[in-house]
Amino acid sequence: MIKNDPFANATKQVNDACDIIGIADKGIREYLAMPNKVLRVKIPVKMDDGKIRIFTGFRSQHNNDRGPYKGGIRYFNPEGGVEYMEREVMALSSWMTWKCAIVDIPLGGGKGGIYVNPKTEKLSEGELERLTRGFAFKISEIIGPGKDIPAPDVYTTGKEMTQIMDTYGKLNGNISTPGVITGKPISMGGSLARNVATGLGAAYCVREAAKALKINLKTAKVVLQGFGNASTFAGIYLEKMGSKVIGASDSKGSILFEKGAPVNKLMEYKEKTGSVVGFPGSKKVSTEELLTAKCDVLIPGALENQITANIAKNLKCKIIAEAANGPTLPEADPIIEQKKILVIPDILANSGGVCISYLEWVQNNMGYYWTFDEVANKMETNITKGFKDAYALSKKHKIDMRKATMVLAVERVLEAFNQKGIWP
Ligand code: NAD
Repeated sequence: MIKNDPFANATKQVNDACDIIGIADKGIREYLAMPNKVLRVKIPVKMDDGKIRIFTGFRSQHNNDRGPYKGGIRYFNPEGGVEYMEREVMALSSWMTWKCAIVDIPLGGGKGGIYVNPKTEKLSEGELERLTRGFAFKISEIIGPGKDIPAPDVYTTGKEMTQIMDTYGKLNGNISTPGVITGKPISMGGSLARNVATGLGAAYCVREAAKALKINLKTAKVVLQGFGNASTFAGIYLEKMGSKVIGASDSKGSILFEKGAPVNKLMEYKEKTGSVVGFPGSKKVSTEELLTAKCDVLIPGALENQITANIAKNLKCKIIAEAANGPTLPEADPIIEQKKILVIPDILANSGGVCISYLEWVQNNMGYYWTFDEVANKMETNITKGFKDAYALSKKHKIDMRKATMVLAVERVLEAFNQKGIWP
């Protein structure tokens, strides 16, 4: 038995959506919940001291009814160990299926990784490259531009993606196949706008939510939890839409500044001092005070499990855009709903990243590359439609946005499955 099994969690969400849609058939429920394939591989690596070390890697391919599997590769060592990691990648691959369906991109869900923490274990560059290429070799038969397209995730970067692409190309007759993987550096066929994708996507979602609630973004106050890639760019783009950032935080603490501060000034300050804490004119506050500050838009953009039932009771925002994965505990959802706060769930709010990954793959397949604005505009179309479709379903079924996004996704995957049927 796995404690706090993430895959059981993912399965429950699928079953809940099936309940709302009215799918009672046990076979279809299982079909939607279970991954199509989970590959577990042994990766022998010659370490710098000459000894051989065996690593364990995974690739879970959840569903490809709408298109090739898509999802990250993480190098991580969750507390529950290797067995927990297997369940975790299964769950994450399931969430990728739903995420791609919500924004209506023709891709399915996958996820994978290696049980290793390259930061704490201090692997050398050579060891890391041998490990990455060894893993790429082991999964090479099941990935490909029309099969399964991995991307970076926790503790992996464009460098590892390039090594996987190169290994795959050399194993396949030395062909150039940039479309086998996304999140590549620009010089290797990466896409413009990838670096801002998640924050920009979250800002587009907030804009749509504000329209739905008739909130004027030009006078809106925004609080950012975290000040990394996702939250910083969400702040920058909301600022461009006229809003004011009045709070921010990072691993060193949280601050509020009544009058608001330009995000680029905060970035400069953090760059110089290592934290947003101490920013001139700001007041240092607790995490709880930051999250429950009076504002229009709260962007939890750092960690999971931040909004507990207790915090939910004291929330004073109108919109929550979950740029981070899983920032709200299930116990908080009913309280938030009762307070009529509109939650843009993670699966939609942070889907800008996978949208632009999709656009990177399209550009690779065409061999023709778009400008920053062209990429951003295409992402805007997908994510805006995803929000509107989910919002309409939430009204139709009288359910919250978290349930509505799952219903939307499950309906879309089911529609593709019904078209294809089962063969062989
Ligand atoms: P990041 O490493 O760039 O930034 C994380 C930020 O969180 C940092 O500013 C860090 O100081 C801050 N932080 C850490 N501990 C904190 C604490 N206790 N309190 C407040 N802040 C704290 O990471 P990121 O890429 O921005 O990812 C953040 C979240 O967004 C994660 O949940 C990630 O899974 C999710 N996400 C990111 C992307 C993306 O493309 N960047 C895509 C999808 C989802």
